[in-house]
Amino acid sequence: MVGAGLKSFFLFLSQSRALNRAAKKWGLRFGASRFVAGKTIAEAVAKVKQLNEAGLICTLDHLGEFVTSRAEAEEATDYCIKTLEAIAKAGVTSNLSLKLTQLGLDLDESLCETNMRRILNTARRHRNFVRIDMEDYSRCKKTLDLLRKLRRDYSNVGTVIQAYLHRSEQDVANLKGVPLRLVKGAYKESPDVAYSQKAEVDHNFKRLIEAHLQTGTYTAIATHDDAIIAFVKQLVAEKGISHDRFEFQMLYGIRSDTQRALAAEGYTMRVYVPYGSDWYGYFMRRLAERPANVAFVVKGMFSR
Ligand code: FAD
Repeated sequence: MVGAGLKSFFLFLSQSRALNRAAKKWGLRFGASRFVAGKTIAEAVAKVKQLNEAGLICTLDHLGEFVTSRAEAEEATDYCIKTLEAIAKAGVTSNLSLKLTQLGLDLDESLCETNMRRILNTARRHRNFVRIDMEDYSRCKKTLDLLRKLRRDYSNVGTVIQAYLHRSEQDVANLKGVPLRLVKGAYKESPDVAYSQKAEVDHNFKRLIEAHLQTGTYTAIATHDDAIIAFVKQLVAEKGISHDRFEFQMLYGIRSDTQRALAAEGYTMRVYVPYGSDWYGYFMRRLAERPANVAFVVKGMFSR
């Protein structure tokens, strides 16, 4: 009950535009640096280098919320391009993750497509890959439609499928040949479109993992859940699926010991590394996910 209350409280705080604006002027506060790799590209790339040295590969995400103008969408696009260039220049092992709403999906779909093409051209020049994160259900169809269009011209783009959505089994079947990241799903969705019970989501997650791994296309399994990780390990061993056909992914700052342990066992482990001055909403959502993390915030407030 307390957990559910705190979850709603942090989700509520995550939506505050006033706090979001204020936080941009601050440095990373309240222990946010546990989950956000820095405010600048240079800081984020330095963290990626450290993670690479520890045997982990990465995906960088330039954080951004509430894009309301073409200029902001273009600025976010420029950040993505600069991030790809910084990755190439530093010679670190990282690809890029982004959200289409940052690039103007809600403002003008053709602007968003143009911005994606600019980013994918840069990624192609540097032989890198771009993953389109999946947002809430209202953007799912638009995201997959644009992805299909982009895939006609670019092989270096993939997306994310959420196990809580009823439609996902069909989406995985329709997206043959597209590298997918499979996740449980992070948004609050209606029971009309999504499973609401953990057991149902977990069951569907396992089915999607098995279905996509068996297509032979590269699969990323993004989870902190030991039961799902154990399922994947057993499945690939039983089916003889080699370790270069899939990877595990986890968020920066979450279960870092498990990340290193999986890498040491010989699995590919990719860390999702967010950075940027727009850290506030992302940080609040991590607290909502696991109110136990609040202990870090309280400590952070008193140690600064
Ligand atoms: P859960 O059932 O939430 O957690 C299982 C266990 O993991 C918990 O019992 C706990 O032991 C541990 N754990 C979980 N969270 C924490 C924490 N914060 N701190 C410490 N331990 C923890 N969702 C989307 O909708 N779209 C996306 O594009 C997307 N991309 C993602 C990319 C990556 C790399 C990851 C890891 C997640 C992404 N997600 C995305 C979020 C995802 O959908 C889930 O909301 C999130 O991963 C929590 O689910 P879980 O599988 O980790 O399992």
